[in-house]
Amino acid sequence: MPQHGSIDLHTHSSVSDGTETPTQLVRAAAVAGLDTVALTDHDSTAGWHEAFAAASGTGLTVVPGMELSTNFGPASVHMLAYLFDPTDGGIVAVTARIRDGRLHRAEKIVTRIARDYDLTWADVLAQSTDGGTIGRPHIADALVARGHVANRSAAFETILHWRGEYYEKYYAPSPIDGVKMIVKAGGVPVLAHPATFGRYRVMDEKTIAELVDSGLFGLEIHHRDNTEDGKVRLYELAEKYRLAVTGSSDYHGEGKPNRLGENTTAPEVLERLVAAGTGSAPYSG
Ligand code: AMP
Ligand code: FE
Ligand code: FE
Ligand code: ZN
Repeated sequence: MPQHGSIDLHTHSSVSDGTETPTQLVRAAAVAGLDTVALTDHDSTAGWHEAFAAASGTGLTVVPGMELSTNFGPASVHMLAYLFDPTDGGIVAVTARIRDGRLHRAEKIVTRIARDYDLTWADVLAQSTDGGTIGRPHIADALVARGHVANRSAAFETILHWRGEYYEKYYAPSPIDGVKMIVKAGGVPVLAHPATFGRYRVMDEKTIAELVDSGLFGLEIHHRDNTEDGKVRLYELAEKYRLAVTGSSDYHGEGKPNRLGENTTAPEVLERLVAAGTGSAPYSG
């Protein structure tokens, strides 16, 4: 159980690749004793209203957010965005383009897998929600349903591996453009899990400095996927560039072992984040 009153700034619902609806997720956050939870579905804000409604009367605060996909060379870099205007033209256009690209990319991956395994596009659609952001986790769930793999993690380690023969990339803006778009929409950008195993050298200091110049607010250092060496390096960068340090679970319901509140953010950091965000406001239920 997380400490009572904790702040968890990174969670996913069935609007993207979490397994719980925004309502179920908010209820789980209340039961876990969290004080504040941010809903950060991949490339979509479609869960915000449901999450606010579900928080009503619970005493829980919901911070509206999103995890924006960006591409940095061959690497997929995730940018958390908080408190931006969900109707901002730039954000609406780029997220629509990413979701559309993800859909066609998933179809391509499924076509390739279907040559070797019994799997259809309808199987994948059955695992996702209408209009939601499609990703490999939905293909993983379809593979599990067909009995080809035991769970999502097993699917990612084998059939869905990014170095595997079925993999395909998808369109996303550069991290710099992502940060600029978020800031323009009144939002607060935080680099998600920047020191994931095998990838933490990807983002060189010069690029971090450019992101800071464009308005980067913080680094998500307390996250289970960041390596210990990487965290040390991230702390140095946070100090040097005066970046906020956040921590969060990256909860995906039953889709990942990550539990709500397993990593948290300090109240002072949340205060600064809320002061910096001008495109939307937290909802206190
Ligand atoms: P995609 O964005 O379609 O390339 O899929 C990446 C998503 O899959 C990430 O957002 C993660 O939430 C999820 N993911 C990555 N690795 C795993 C894993 N080993 N087990 C479960 N989910 C994973
Ligand atoms: Fe995810
Ligand atoms: Fe991520
Ligand atoms: Zn995430």
